[in-house]
Amino acid sequence: MAVDASNALLCWYAVDKRGLPWRARDGERPDPYRVWLSEIMLQQTTIAHARPYFETFARRWPTVAALAEADEGEVMAAWAGLGYYARARNLLVCARAVAGAHGGRFPEEEAKLRELPGIGDYTAAAIAAIAFGRRAVAVDANVGRIVARLFAVKEIAPSRAVIAELAGRLVPAEAAGDFTQAMMDLGQTVCTPRRPDCGRCPLTAHCVAFGEGEPGRYPLKAPRPARPRRRGTAYWLEHQGHVLLVRRPRRGLLGGMLALPTEVPPADAAWAEAGAVDHVFTHFALNMRLLCAEAKARGDGLWWPVERLGEAGLPTLFAKLAARGAEWRRAA
Ligand code: SF4
Repeated sequence: MAVDASNALLCWYAVDKRGLPWRARDGERPDPYRVWLSEIMLQQTTIAHARPYFETFARRWPTVAALAEADEGEVMAAWAGLGYYARARNLLVCARAVAGAHGGRFPEEEAKLRELPGIGDYTAAAIAAIAFGRRAVAVDANVGRIVARLFAVKEIAPSRAVIAELAGRLVPAEAAGDFTQAMMDLGQTVCTPRRPDCGRCPLTAHCVAFGEGEPGRYPLKAPRPARPRRRGTAYWLEHQGHVLLVRRPRRGLLGGMLALPTEVPPADAAWAEAGAVDHVFTHFALNMRLLCAEAKARGDGLWWPVERLGEAGLPTLFAKLAARGAEWRRAA
């Protein structure tokens, strides 16, 4: 399977590969500097987002030596908007290490590449394979997904070591760089996380998950634990067209936001039930009951005109409760 699958992938790549500014054209030797720069930029961001940054850097600092001599402030400014700024600082430290200790040439071996600042396992393997044609196994989320599907891995959330062992069976002795880039393209354009487009895939004949008929279920994930349910009470206290709002404590749920008072009644009043709303937070589901009352007088606190409640910037949970409060006042 392994040889046939990698041949099929390489044939597909030869025809369908994307033209990206850091990729060598047919017949060109890959430029390790451009490969490295693109791999660092593509950590944590998309090709579409990284592309103009790459083009700017490659124009302003066309070699690792030029980048090594750049002013840090200018590099940081050119990186602005790409996020994860530690990467930009490491980029410069790495460029200076390559220009200095390595005489302006990136090392070819994965282990040596890993010693450079900002270069982890995946990036070292990707550079070794793409820039130098080394037989290296670059495992990222795309490769993990493709491999889990190709081999229909039954382990839940398979470890990097499991994926690396299976991916290693596929990496050809020759053309490791094309293979690595082909896996990137396949994972980003065909074997995508939610809906693999198997009709366009060169690997259907080798893909066990495709044969099973439900490839999108791989990689298998642990079932999510059920969200705990909580209950609470909110209070709609109104006086002459104004409703009492509070600023929630800075720390905790919806910290610092305006809201209806909760948990403790804000006044002695004839509280009436006005139903409840359900709201789902990341870690729990909340059922919040609403009690409504007309205050005899306007006490301390922030009294907001009910007609302009839409301008208060209430978080969704309290906007839902406010809608209930508005129903109550119409019915009262
Ligand atoms: Fe992914 Fe489908 Fe190709 Fe299998 S056949 S590798 S699931 S796109």
